Amino acid sequence: MELISVIVPCYNEEQAIPLFFEEMKKTAEQMGEVDFEIIFVDDGSKDRTLSVCKALCAEDPRIKYISFSRNFGKEAAIYAGFWHAKGDYVVLMDADLQDPPSLLPEMFRLIKEEGYDSVATRRVSRKGEPLIRSFFARKFYRIMNVISTTDIVDGARDYRLMTRRFVNSMLELKEYNRFSKGLFGWVGYKTKWLEYENVNRVAGETKWSFWKLLLYSIEGIVAFSTMPLMIAVFTGMFFCCIALLFIIVIIVRTMLFGDPVAGWPSMICIMLLIGGVQLFCVGILGEYLAKTYLEVKRRPIYLVKETNAGKERNYDNL
Ligand code: UDP
Ligand code: MG
Repeated sequence: MELISVIVPCYNEEQAIPLFFEEMKKTAEQMGEVDFEIIFVDDGSKDRTLSVCKALCAEDPRIKYISFSRNFGKEAAIYAGFWHAKGDYVVLMDADLQDPPSLLPEMFRLIKEEGYDSVATRRVSRKGEPLIRSFFARKFYRIMNVISTTDIVDGARDYRLMTRRFVNSMLELKEYNRFSKGLFGWVGYKTKWLEYENVNRVAGETKWSFWKLLLYSIEGIVAFSTMPLMIAVFTGMFFCCIALLFIIVIIVRTMLFGDPVAGWPSMICIMLLIGGVQLFCVGILGEYLAKTYLEVKRRPIYLVKETNAGKERNYDNL
């Protein structure tokens, strides 16, 4: 029988995990034609997530857990899951049931019968989410799609069923700064998009503050576009042209009307503006440099504290 690996990144999800497993069990029963393996990736949780996972493991041999030595972030958890998954198909799901397992049979059918390599989901509404967050999220996707050549879909969730070859391609991307929404698009293949209404979390609370999301979006931009560097170049060119024009105007004016000392305030304003633009551009440059710095260190993406999923460590990445 074919095997589907379900990867579930968990960070402080002690309440959600049992509920998730109940739902997942129902879906697995419904899909009798395939076997399941569920991999809970405990991303350095501070609550009882790990012991909840272990208790479930004792109950059901289909369950595996991987526990990190500290919180490495959801992206690292996804990568670890991919790396340990043995399935012919792999699906990524949040622990909070915001990615309804009930969609899985349809996703599987699309891959089996219509030959897609991955079936992804996007939510068409963002109800239940703070308005300001929705606003900035929409803006982010708009900007992202203008400045990046990789297609990044608005409202895309990480909930996605993939074939083995798609997962292997994802594993080949060993970069340290991982922005999955972009990586999925980058690897290509045929992807089918399913749409659904936003579902609220069953238990616990979101791990993403506005600030964390903002940093994550900057990470996405830096990882998938070098356009900001271009913008810096053009801003510089623009200011050079203006400066040249001014120089000519001033020379001509001095020759015609003499040189009264005037325009001191405007000078300060211009200096401040240009100083600001310069710092901004150096900042952009620094951001890329910082990412390069992290990348060249070749640190592992995650460290495993304990697991029952076989391979202890991802030496592959070193
Ligand atoms: N998550 C994780 N590591 C983190 C933050 C989140 O593994 O550092 C997991 C979390 O447990 C959940 C999923 O990523 O299963 C999505 O997180 P959350 O539901 O908080 O995000 P939201 O759905 O609000 O965007
Ligand atoms: Mg969630």
